[in-house]
Amino acid sequence: MNRHIAIDGPASSGKSTIAKIVAKRRGLIYVDTGAMYRAMAIHFLKLGLSADDEAGITEAVKTADVTIDYIDGQQQVILNGENVTPYLRQEATGNMASASSVYAAVRSKMTALQQKLAAEKTVVMDGRDIGTVVLPDAFLKVFMTASAEVRAERRFNELKAKGEDPDFETLKAEIIERDWRDSHREIAPLKQADDAFLLDTSDMSIDMVAGYVMGLYDERARRAGDGE
Ligand code: C5P
Repeated sequence: MNRHIAIDGPASSGKSTIAKIVAKRRGLIYVDTGAMYRAMAIHFLKLGLSADDEAGITEAVKTADVTIDYIDGQQQVILNGENVTPYLRQEATGNMASASSVYAAVRSKMTALQQKLAAEKTVVMDGRDIGTVVLPDAFLKVFMTASAEVRAERRFNELKAKGEDPDFETLKAEIIERDWRDSHREIAPLKQADDAFLLDTSDMSIDMVAGYVMGLYDERARRAGDGE
């Protein structure tokens, strides 16, 4: 049985930071599923599609070949042969990813790709529907959250560090809007799996959260009978 770790939670809750640390320290492969939705979004943007054009997006899904690769342990996302990793974090990409990920055609393609990756390697996968839909039998599931204020603050500091000049209230409003859309969509909404550990990271440091998740993982492994 593969000992996958599923980490779900809202935007900027710290999932990817933690998933990367845990993957590295436990020798697992990190898979950032948000990056895959973002790569699909780049495809739609390149085609000049608007986010509310479900028919156009459904058709465009057929011509998007998304794969992932690793360079020095860092996930790279390849869209139709082009490495689009440098463009994934742009604001327009994120907004299109959030809006287009509500469509069935987009979700079924991404879910199939993610399940294929997990069939090949033991993964730490982060996203919105990993514990509920993509890997319902994951060895460990964590649902990570933090207040909208704290998440906006983290995003604000991240952008500042990159030399940008963000507006705090705008960032906070965008985070709240994205949470709402992710948790209210019909297919695979953002939701804590019944058997996931809930972790509110508002007042926790990165080391504390990573330590906690690794502690849960090791405890499970120990109980499963093979020590740490
Ligand atoms: O996590 P990240 O912000 O990169 O994800 C971008 C968008 O992709 C999210 O707002 C969400 O709508 C969508 N997404 C999803 N399911 C996932 C991962 C991301 O719907 N498993």
